[in-house]
Amino acid sequence: MTSELDKNVQYLKGIGEKKAALFAKLKVFTVGDLLAFYPRDYERWDRVYPIGEAPLDTDVCVAASLISPFTVRKTRAGLLVFSTVAADGDHFLALTFFNNKYVKDALKDGEEYLFYGKIRLNADGNREMVAPAYARVSEGGYLHPVYPQTEGLNSKAIAKAVRTAIDLYGGCLKETLPDEQIRKYRLLPSAQAVEQIHFPKNEEEIHAARRRLIYEELLTLQLGILTAGGGERVSTRFALTRDRSAAFAETLPFRLTNAQQRAIRECMADMQSGKAMRRLLQGDVGSGKTAVAAALIDSCAASGFQSALMAPTEVLAQQHYRTFREFFKDTGLRIELLTGSVTPKNKRLIKERAAQGDVDLLIGTHAVITGDVQFQNLALAVTDEQHRFGVTQRAKLREKGDSPHVLVMSATPIPRTLSLIIYGDLDISVLDEKPAGRRDIRTYTVPTVYHERLYAFIRKEVAEGRQCYIVCPAVEESKDTESERTAAEDYAKLLSGTVFRDLRTDILHGKMRPKQKEEAMRRFQKGETDVLICTVVIEVGVDVPNATVMVIENAEFFGLSQLHQLRGRVGRGAAQSYCVLVSDATNEKAAQRLSVMCETNDGFKIAEEDLNQRGPGDFFGNRQSGLPLLKLADLMTDGKILYAARDEAQRILADDPALALPKNVLLKEKVSALFADIS
Ligand code: ADP
Ligand code: MG
Repeated sequence: MTSELDKNVQYLKGIGEKKAALFAKLKVFTVGDLLAFYPRDYERWDRVYPIGEAPLDTDVCVAASLISPFTVRKTRAGLLVFSTVAADGDHFLALTFFNNKYVKDALKDGEEYLFYGKIRLNADGNREMVAPAYARVSEGGYLHPVYPQTEGLNSKAIAKAVRTAIDLYGGCLKETLPDEQIRKYRLLPSAQAVEQIHFPKNEEEIHAARRRLIYEELLTLQLGILTAGGGERVSTRFALTRDRSAAFAETLPFRLTNAQQRAIRECMADMQSGKAMRRLLQGDVGSGKTAVAAALIDSCAASGFQSALMAPTEVLAQQHYRTFREFFKDTGLRIELLTGSVTPKNKRLIKERAAQGDVDLLIGTHAVITGDVQFQNLALAVTDEQHRFGVTQRAKLREKGDSPHVLVMSATPIPRTLSLIIYGDLDISVLDEKPAGRRDIRTYTVPTVYHERLYAFIRKEVAEGRQCYIVCPAVEESKDTESERTAAEDYAKLLSGTVFRDLRTDILHGKMRPKQKEEAMRRFQKGETDVLICTVVIEVGVDVPNATVMVIENAEFFGLSQLHQLRGRVGRGAAQSYCVLVSDATNEKAAQRLSVMCETNDGFKIAEEDLNQRGPGDFFGNRQSGLPLLKLADLMTDGKILYAARDEAQRILADDPALALPKNVLLKEKVSALFADIS
């Protein structure tokens, strides 16, 4: 359905091709995008302070008139500095502008203006504002929206464009929410909420607008999750006829923990019931989720069915491939690996065999769910480290076959309220017990001056036959950046050329080709590498029990859950393991994070602390959760609205499961839009 809102912003008055290109940088393409481009904050021009009472070093608005003409001077660097003094009767305020020759004519002597900015005490102890924003008193008095900006496009320009868009097309905004919900929760109508969030007159208006838009956002989210996740358990033809798990357990080199046995029982009951299982297997790093999956896969194969296992990274898929081949080495189970790096010819062969039912277990990355992989009788779809997969991907996997059982495995412990949202209506099994004989990992924080001692410690562990990971300085938050690669390579070169000259070092980072990564992992796994210098590609799921030391450089750059995941790469065997966090950070938050790590090995405690510190926006960022990025809602603080939205979403779907009724068309469009960029 096209509407005025789909028009390109370029055709708005005052926006040409050039500005449209800048808006595109902000991902604003259409008039509709512009209206939904909400301010991230507001300048409070409605609250005018007397100069003498305004707090320092924070944005404030004052009203004052110029009492002296501008003076201009040129700095040695050629910068033009315009200075003047304003006063509000009792107090003076020095004003300074740089390279702004318009200001001299714009501000007229004797007229009163509003100035907005930070007041500082200058060298003479006088109050001063540097480069403040200003407006005539008659133009001010309300809240100015502050938008995410880009070079060449500031908030003022964006606000102007939004104003034009609202004036011309605000009327095209249709109401998406059902009438009864608007009445029940006393929500603003859509068009009014949009206008108000951009141009509120006061705090109450912001609040009301946000409440309406957050409700809408969360309702959309819930509808998306619930429709992707499906409602009721559906019948399936893959009811397992054989439970071989006891026999399988006999073949393992260890005894399953009680928690593992319980989880297997719970899954088996689901899988024998005739309804399709949809279960989350949650367990801290090292709790042994893989063995649970293996037991289920084994019974599926024994019943004549196929399984698929999907991992978030190539490295992890390859590791699973090796692990499962080992698990099943005497069984004749046919296992194949399908990742991006498999040659086209082999891909075709593997796909053919999967389609003919000649593969019992297909392991892979996203390649397994992309379009054209077919199975003859896919009975079980397992996704590992679920927090990297989203609901939509989960749904795709399920669509692969004929209502297969679905098991998602996650090492990210999350509070109950949030798991309700993210995992919708999955049943949950928890591995709350670690394999016997595991010792807690000893964790220390050290400053960089300890490097020599640290290297000596590593040498000692290596001399005892152990292996070590060194996670390199993260250059940026984002993964796999060019600079991260360089940092890793430089560091590896440095270490292998000096302190570890006589040790077997190796490198692993995200920019390496899949084949190279696989080789590096295989060498490390086989014990051919003593020290693996790597980036966070190592974070998820890698399992090398002989590794006992995890060194994390610049540990302050990492979030708590990520640190915990990294640390979980060691302590996987019987030997005492160590995690050393190297950091010179002095900021309090970072220090706090590191001390939490040193205090506890408990993933639940760490996740909770992580949520507290970072807030779920980060915790459930797109990459981690596979949830769409929410614009306004905060899953932690908007809990009440969330629950209301969830109830209403269920009510709507009970009535109209596919959102096919005419009255729900707009909601359905919203859902597709929200989930568009993550599928
Ligand atoms: P995670 O839950 O983090 O995925 P894994 O499945 O990789 O953990 O298991 C961690 C390690 O513990 C593996 O080396 C695995 O073989 C081993 N393991 C799993 N279950 C047990 C057990 N019951 N006893 C001893 N070792 C086990
Ligand atoms: Mg794992």
